[in-house]
Amino acid sequence: MSAPRYAVFGQPIAHSQSPRIQSAFGKAHGIEVDYRAIEASPEEFAAALEAFAADGGVGANVTLPHKEAAFALCATTTSRAHRAGAVNTLLRKGERWHGDNTDGIGLVRDLTGRHGLDLRGRRVLLLGAGGAARGVAPALLDAGILELIVVNRSPERADALVDAMSEPGRVISAYWDALREQGDFELIINATSAARGEGNGFNLPLSLVNSMTTAVDLNYGEASIPFLAWARAAGCRNSFDGLGMLVEQAAESFQQWHGMRPETDAIYTELRGRDALLVTA
Ligand code: NDP
Repeated sequence: MSAPRYAVFGQPIAHSQSPRIQSAFGKAHGIEVDYRAIEASPEEFAAALEAFAADGGVGANVTLPHKEAAFALCATTTSRAHRAGAVNTLLRKGERWHGDNTDGIGLVRDLTGRHGLDLRGRRVLLLGAGGAARGVAPALLDAGILELIVVNRSPERADALVDAMSEPGRVISAYWDALREQGDFELIINATSAARGEGNGFNLPLSLVNSMTTAVDLNYGEASIPFLAWARAAGCRNSFDGLGMLVEQAAESFQQWHGMRPETDAIYTELRGRDALLVTA
């Protein structure tokens, strides 16, 4: 029987750091991990995943744009993946896929552990309502934030996220144009992929920020530059990108596949040293 195989599926995927991270975790635990990046379009994704399973695939990460499609393909999911309606971690159980979402816990571990933030009682602004936003929202609520305001380019997607959280009054959607009426926030999270497209400047009201505001971009490398530049210009004293989240969500996936919790600081430091080259999960 061939060795168990692992992979990350996405499009684009060529610059993914996930194989490097999983391999580093494996080395630290004395395991040789066969983990590859597999490019698949939305039309190809389901068939590519089945072919992977037939070829010994037992675990996979899923990134942009397949997280919601992966959720739909799972026979069972964890409750956090169910609340998110999006899956970034797959585990083969018999002939079926079991899905989890480790994005949220990855972000919360990075915020509370590496950056020492206390999330309890915070007002949080979440920009975006795609797969990443859906993954982080339940974890932020579970971490004790006071209120989550969700804003998205397509407002109906923000409304759908709010409905999925089932916490009326605590999770609220707002329009971009009405953001200045929301006052300032203690935490602002960019969960959009806007910086990957055209016209990627962030034109947000400065009134969202006070000197205590922390700004986090789930993107990292070049893709985090526009939002973090806006945050710093607006007066945020504490702002950082999503590299720590990337490493923490990967550690959570590794633990689920191999039953061991990897230490994350070494690979985080190594990747941070190459930061300018990083463009995708
Ligand atoms: P999705 O494709 O599911 O969602 C994209 C989101 O960005 C949607 O809310 C979309 O709005 C919004 N958006 C796209 N273009 C623009 C624009 N020009 N202006 C305003 N909003 C825009 O992607 P994901 O949610 O999976 O990922 C979002 C980002 O987070 C990605 O760049 C990804 O790399 C990063 N990420 C980082 C992780 C980490 O570990 N650090 C983990 C997961 C994601 P609309 O609904 O209107 O299309």
